[in-house]
Order: sequence, then structure tokens, then C-alpha cells
Amino acid sequence: MALLIDHDLCTLCEACIPVCPFGSLEIKEGKLLVDESCTLCGACVPEWPVSALLIEEIEKDSGINTGDWRGIWVFAEQRWGKIQSCSYELLGAARRLAEKLEVPVTVLLLGAKVKEPNSLLTAGADEVLFVTDAALENFGVEPYSKVIADLISERKPEIVLGGATAIGRSLLSRIAVKVKAGLTADCTGLDIDTEKRLLLQTRPAFGGNIMATIVCPEHRPQMATVRPKVMKPLENTYDSKGSVTKISTDVPANRVRFLEFVADDTSRVNIAAADVIVTGGRGVQDPKNFSMIEELADLLGGAVGASRSAVDAGWINYSHQVGQTGRTVSPKLYIALGVSGAIQHLVGMQSSDYIIAVNKDPNAPIFKVADVGIVGDLFEVVPKLIAEVKRRKGT
Ligand SMILES: Cc1cc2nc3c(=O)[nH]c(=O)nc-3n(C[C@H](O)[C@H](O)[C@H](O)COP(=O)(O)OP(=O)(O)OC[C@H]3O[C@@H](n4cnc5c(N)ncnc54)[C@H](O)[C@@H]3O)c2cc1C
Repeated sequence: MALLIDHDLCTLCEACIPVCPFGSLEIKEGKLLVDESCTLCGACVPEWPVSALLIEEIEKDSGINTGDWRGIWVFAEQRWGKIQSCSYELLGAARRLAEKLEVPVTVLLLGAKVKEPNSLLTAGADEVLFVTDAALENFGVEPYSKVIADLISERKPEIVLGGATAIGRSLLSRIAVKVKAGLTADCTGLDIDTEKRLLLQTRPAFGGNIMATIVCPEHRPQMATVRPKVMKPLENTYDSKGSVTKISTDVPANRVRFLEFVADDTSRVNIAAADVIVTGGRGVQDPKNFSMIEELADLLGGAVGASRSAVDAGWINYSHQVGQTGRTVSPKLYIALGVSGAIQHLVGMQSSDYIIAVNKDPNAPIFKVADVGIVGDLFEVVPKLIAEVKRRKGT
């Protein structure tokens, strides 16, 4: 859209200038002008004696016939030949979207020797395209992005999804540039506008203070990365009629040479894989009080999580942080102790199966997502919880 000024009709009456809430209009050298602060709100347009102002839709032609693009593609991540759990989560999401669009789900798998590619079919794929070559054994952003971009241009999927992992983030952004598509990174929710066949891509925006839903109406494919542990894999085995099709292609040279894998030190505290997480927030008040959180987590066979406030205070290491700038987790049981439930924390844990929150403020937002909320002082509640778990375990 654009604000058009018909200078032949404009009488320089100045009536529009005080009406503009952004001060975007001025008369300069005998001409009404608009500057870049104009938000196209339209306040200046109506009801002047002479209508010299008009907001007009600019014809946008991406040159793409969106109707030619069909189907949902999922990039399946593998490391050391093992398909990563985020691929199955993405397939669960893709299946739900595919039902609404009535299209097949295709998985793109790249590698040399990959274990159990058929598992992708039972996890929700109608077809697996397995591009196999010794040069694709380990992830390399150059060859991977070239191979996938070529396949996208040739086969025209309407949606392409990948994990918001280190690999997915670097790969999908490169592919998006190559195929001239947009990319919504780090989505926490996906849905479909069935009427317009648009992917509704929801992610935190403005520092996590709002959730924005982004659409890509003009271009194809619609591309998104999704945070691990946000989506759920299918509960039941998918009765796929498809198969794994091996594709060989010319793999471009990789300017990066693979030397060796060095394990990430912080992966020793893998809260993302824990079934039970006991999280402490600022309400824990002191680093030494984390021993109580650790004791409860140990008794439940779980891991210790933390809010960013607790991490920023230096009470516990960053590898424990849950939330937008920490890990996204989806355990069977999440216990939040002295955590207020800021949106940046909630986006990292709200897909947990069962949430128990202890907070002395009855209006704390964490209670909105909790299955069980205990309004009380955690220093009274947690020792009772520990005693009860010990009693039941007979220890
Ligand atoms: C860009 C950005 C990214 C962010 N990323 C993250 C992130 O990844 N993870 C994250 O957690 N935050 C993140 N934050 C910070 C987030 O906005 C909140 O500031 C933070 O989550 C608050 O942590 P908290 O709940 O521990 O502390 P507070 O908000 O201070 O809440 C403490 C809670 O403890 C309760 N309490 C106090 N004493 C007791 C007691 N004795 N018993 C019971 N309850 C008690 C209080 O009632 C209160 O609700 C981010 C912020 C921004 C801007």
C-alpha cells in the first residue's frame, strides 16, 4: 500500500497536516509531501473538500503461481546416521497440517548410511526422499542447501519445515535465500488458514513480549523452523502407503572440511531429554536453596531447570535455563517453584504433559498453564513434597 498525493487536486489547504498522528505531512516548496514516518493509517484521507489523498494497494506480483506448489516437506535431521528426535516432532506437526490441506507429507533425508529411514514413514511421512552420497554423511551447509534448493525448485512443495536447531537454522536460512522465499525462524506454533492455504507461523516477537503470527501470501514455499520439543510426535503409528526413494545427485563440493566431532560440554546437563524437570526461579532466593530443588529432582529421577532470573543471578549454570533464550523442554512432569511464568519462560515449557506450580502469588501467570497450582511458600511446600516422595519410595 502507498499514500498517493494528487498534486493537481491538492489546494494546499493544510487541513490534513494536523490530522496526521505521526506528523508525516508537510508543505515544502509549494508542495504537500509525505515522509517515511507515514504508517498508512488513513487518518488524513477521508472527507476533505477536495480529495487529493488516496491510499492505494500496490499491485504485487511475485511472478509465482501459488497454485502450482503443493505438499508439505520436512527436513529430517540426522547426526552420526541417527535420525534426531526433532524430525519426528516435525512430522507430527506436518501430519496435522497436511490433514487440513489434504496434501501428502514428504521427508527429505540427506546422508550416507542412515539408520532406520523407514521409521520416518511410520512417524507420519507419505514419502521419504533419501539423497544419499558419501559427501553428505556429515552436515555441510553448502552441499545440503544446494541439493535441497534444487529439489524444491524442481518439485515445488508449498511448505518446508525444519528444526530450529544449529543445523536447521543455518540450513533453512540458506535455502530460503536460494529459492527466494521468506523464512519464519523459531516458531512455537503452526496452523493453516484452510481458505487461503496459508501457513500460520507463530513465534515470540519484540523480545518475547507478544506472539506474532506471520503469513507468507505471495511467495512459495512457505518456510519455517520449529523449536525442538515444542511439537509432539504422532502418538500412533502412521499407516503410510509410501516408501523410501533413494535419489542420487551431483553433490557440489564443500569448502568446509570435516575434521572431528567434539562433544558439547553442556550436553551433560540435558534438560531437553528429561522426563521430569524441577525448576527453580527467583523465588528460590539464594543459590544454596537450589540443593532443595536438586533433592526433589533426584528423588523423582529428574533434572534441575531454572528461570533466566535464577541463571542471571549466577545461582545456577545457563545449561539449566528453560525458555526462549534457554532450552525448550517437554517433560512428562514439570514442577515450577518460585517461577512467575513470564511469556519467555512459558514458551519453553508450556507443552510439558503435566505442570505443577508453587508460587505464593495467587495471580502469578504460571498458574494459567499449570495443571495443579499450589499457592504457598515454596520453603514450606517443597520439604513436604520431599518427605511425601520419600515416604512413598520407602526411603
Ligand atoms: C528477550 C528475553 C528473553 C528471555 N528469555 C528467558 C528465558 O529463556 N527463560 C526465562 O525464564 N526467562 C527469560 N526472560 C526473562 C523473563 O522475562 C522473566 O524476567 C523471568 O522468566 C522471570 O524469572 P522468575 O519467574 O524466576 O522471576 P520473577 O519474575 O521475579 O518471579 C519470581 C516468582 O517467585 C515467587 N516467589 C517469591 N518467593 C516465593 C516463595 N518463597 N515461595 C513461592 N513463590 C515465591 C514470586 O511470587 C514470583 O512470582 C527473557 C526476557 C527477555 C526480554
